[in-house]
Formats: sequence, C-alpha cells, structure tokens
Amino acid sequence: MEFPGRRNKFAQNPQTELYGQPLHFYGQPPLENISLTEFETFAVERLKLLKTVENLGVSYVKLSDQYIKKLDIEFKNLNFPYRADADDRKSQSGPSEYEKRRKDHISHFILRLAYCQTEDLRRWFIQQEVDLFRYRFNDLHPKLKLEFLHKNNLQYDAITVEEKRMLQDKLVNSSYGVSGITVEDQDFYKVPFQDALDLVRTRKVYLKAGYVYVPHQDIVTIVLNDFRTRLSKALALTARSLPAVHSDERLQPLLNHLSNSYLGQDYSIQKNVGKISLEQIDPLSGKSFPLCMRQLHQALRDNHHLRHGGRMQYGLFLKGIGLSLEQALQFWRSEFTRGKVDADKFDKAYAYSVRHMFGKEGKRTDYTPYSCMKVILSNPPSQGDHHGCPFRHSDHELLKQKLQSYKVSPSGINQILELVKGMHYQLACQKYFELTHNVEDVNFSLSHPNQYFVESQKVLGGGKDIKREMDTSQRSQGNNNSAARNSAAIREKTVAANTNASQDSAEMTEDLDSYFHDA
Ligand code: SF4
Repeated sequence: MEFPGRRNKFAQNPQTELYGQPLHFYGQPPLENISLTEFETFAVERLKLLKTVENLGVSYVKLSDQYIKKLDIEFKNLNFPYRADADDRKSQSGPSEYEKRRKDHISHFILRLAYCQTEDLRRWFIQQEVDLFRYRFNDLHPKLKLEFLHKNNLQYDAITVEEKRMLQDKLVNSSYGVSGITVEDQDFYKVPFQDALDLVRTRKVYLKAGYVYVPHQDIVTIVLNDFRTRLSKALALTARSLPAVHSDERLQPLLNHLSNSYLGQDYSIQKNVGKISLEQIDPLSGKSFPLCMRQLHQALRDNHHLRHGGRMQYGLFLKGIGLSLEQALQFWRSEFTRGKVDADKFDKAYAYSVRHMFGKEGKRTDYTPYSCMKVILSNPPSQGDHHGCPFRHSDHELLKQKLQSYKVSPSGINQILELVKGMHYQLACQKYFELTHNVEDVNFSLSHPNQYFVESQKVLGGGKDIKREMDTSQRSQGNNNSAARNSAAIREKTVAANTNASQDSAEMTEDLDSYFHDA
C-alpha cells in the first residue's frame, strides 16, 4: 500500500526526523508501503482510542486526574506513544517508541481518509483528535512544548519585564487564574487576537490594539486552535481526493467499513438462532431493546406495518438477537396481516425481503445487523418512517416526550438532552441504558444496538428475567387473548418472581443464560 504524492518533499525529511518529535501537527503524510492488514489494524486501534477519548470527555472533566489516568491506560494498551515516553528523550530512538510514533502518524492519516466523507464524520473526527492532542500537548515537558512551538512557526514573543510591569493591573484583572503574585513569575505572549479567538470569546485574556496577552499556561488554547484549523482544511482537501481513493477496490470497502464502523462483534453469529421465542419480543422490547428498536417495535405494533428502512433495521436486529428465518416470517406475517396486508399479499410482496435478509434470495448475502454508526449516519428517516436513531434523528421535544413516557426522570432527561446537544448520540444512549437499568456506570462503550441488548440481558440476569416476564405474560394471555399485543402494559409491568416455573421454561432460560454470558 502506498500513500501517493509529495515524494520529493518527504525525501528531504527522513522518517527518523519525522518521528523525532513526540508530537506534531501531522503536516507530512506517510509515504511508505504498508500491508493491508497493518492498514486496517492501525485504523481500528486509532478508532478505539478516539472512542475512548469521546467517552472520557463526557464522563470526566477533561485533563482531570481520572481522565488522564484512564487515557494513559488506553494509550499503553493500544501501544500509542504516551507521556512517559514523551518525557524520556533517551527512549525516543528506541525501536518501540519509533514504532508507536509511526503507528500514531499512519493511523491518523488513514482515519482522515475515512472521516473526511461527510460533515458529521469530519466534525466528530476533529473533536476527538483535538481532545487527544490537548492531552498529549499538556503532558509534554515544558522544554518540548517550546520546541514544538518553534518547529511549527508558533513563535510568539514574550513581552518584556518593563511592559509586564506597565500592564500588570490590566493583566491581573483580565487574565484567568493570574494574580498579582504570580504575574511576576510567568511569561505573557503577545499574540494576534485572531489566533486566540477562544480566549477572547471567553474573556480570559487582556486585549489591546489587535493583540492579546496570553499567559504561558493558556498557550495550549492557541495551539489547539491552530491544530483544529489545519485539520479542518486538511480534511476538506482529503475529501477532494476521495474519487481517486474510491477507485481502489482494496481501499473502498475498508474505508467505508471504518467510517460506518463500530469495534466489536457483528452480531451475525448463528449460535443463538431459535433462542428467543416470539412471545418474548413484547416484554424484551420494554426492558432490553435500545430506544431505536423499541420505537420500531412500537410503531410496528401500532400500525401493523413498517416501511423498508424500518423493516431492514428492525428485522436484522431481531435476527441478531436470535430469531430464525421461520420465526421472522411468522412474526412479520402475523403483524402485517393484522393491518391492511392480507396473507397472499404478504407472501408476494414482503416474504421475499425477509428471506433476502437471511441470505436466502438475491445475492444470498447473509446480512448483519446495523451498527449504531450505520443507523446514525446513513439513510435518515423522512415523514412516516420510524427507523434511524431517536437520539440523532428525533426532534428534541419529541425525544423528551418519548423519554417521559418511558418514565425517565426529569434530571435524567436533561442529562440525555445535553449529550444529544453535544452530538454524543451513543453516549446519550448509554445514559438511557444507565437510567433504565439503574446502574451507575456502564462498563462498555456502546457501538451496536445488539450490544445494548446483550449488555441489558447481562444486567437483568441473563434469561432469568425474561422467563419471569414470560410467565407473567402467559398468565395474562390466559385471562385475555389480546393481552400479548398490549405491549405497553406488558413492557411496563412489574415482574413478579415465579418459583413454580415449568421444566420447559427452565431449559429455555438456561440456554439464554449461556448465550448472553458467552456473547
Ligand atoms: Fe440505537 Fe445506537 Fe441510537 Fe442507541 S445509539 S438508539 S443503539 S442507533
């Protein structure tokens, strides 16, 4: 694999020099040959790192002790260069540090290719890369920080002692975290105000005649601003080269997979087929389905119909949790024929697409359930559609009402809406999980609706909870045949312990138990 272009320039910058610095602005693309396996591994591991950065960024104050500690661990686990190495100048020439820096460099450029494709992807990528950069810059030794500034033409002049004395009152009054005592001991840099818009906007610096006076500790804001601007321009340029990249048939599927990517199982495994019965779907939808699937299930029960986008998203999810082809056909047929579609029309118009989903028609592709990224980024719903991710695609007021109807507390709703506002849709979904499962901190990073389901079942005790709900709902069925379809009542029902479970139910529960705990 070869990264095209700019070979001559690179020839003047051998790799030893390129990786001599612990941190750079990624101005120079890598030009060496790498294998496709390395290409994919590097990209997936950087994506994992960026997902961790995103998760930590909303769970902890950025650069707080806990934030740094957790990010340190991830850096070490994934073999990216981290602060201990950056401080140790001697170890820089060692092969392992070189390899880490090489990986950091190459993986950044691969993700640029994958994440330059849409505005949403670009925004997400820039935010995580900027946070990552902040953490790494902050951990640099002061000497290395200065070296970094000089190498990148960010040579701002420190004001003289006389000028500092003259401006002392103004500097103390206008600068955040600077007192009369500390002003003597720290450097202030005179920076054109357009380079420090964040500091001006938040009124953290003294502004005079088009220049701001930035205390040493705030110089990171300027560097980040510069990095953000460079990266944003670089992504726009990269997007222009996409047609050429997409013509490479080895790269296109990899890049598409990365940008729609989630890191984990694809939930296409067959071992769980037949472990879920149709009667379990109603109670499970209230307890263990993520909001996107709960919404689809409800729409299907209410309207006895779903459009193609909804059928694909929900149908593949159900396949992933264990519905067999026969069960799926029965499920969709029984629901559709309660509406305007008769059995004959169902068999002619809809059964084909169900069989298609299971790889029994057309190209015979055994389709895998959609990941969150796919649901969030592709095929947005229009009027009358129910697919998509409610955290991404629902109007705020509608989302609020939905959460209220699912008994999420007002403070929980506010937390979720805040995350949605910051475009952290999967984190909003994780918060919904925490609130509806009464757990303080989910110990997984959500990337797939089927992962949500499996994690929910683990929290609820595998299949045990399902069994109890089943027994309760079956008793209700005895009293009222239509109760099984009264999904709202069943979903919100308090589950009573049932000590007289039948032998069949117990076996079914054991199977579910082992499936959910193996998964
Ligand atoms: Fe579904 Fe993922 Fe959105 Fe949650 S974040 S609602 S699982 S698409």
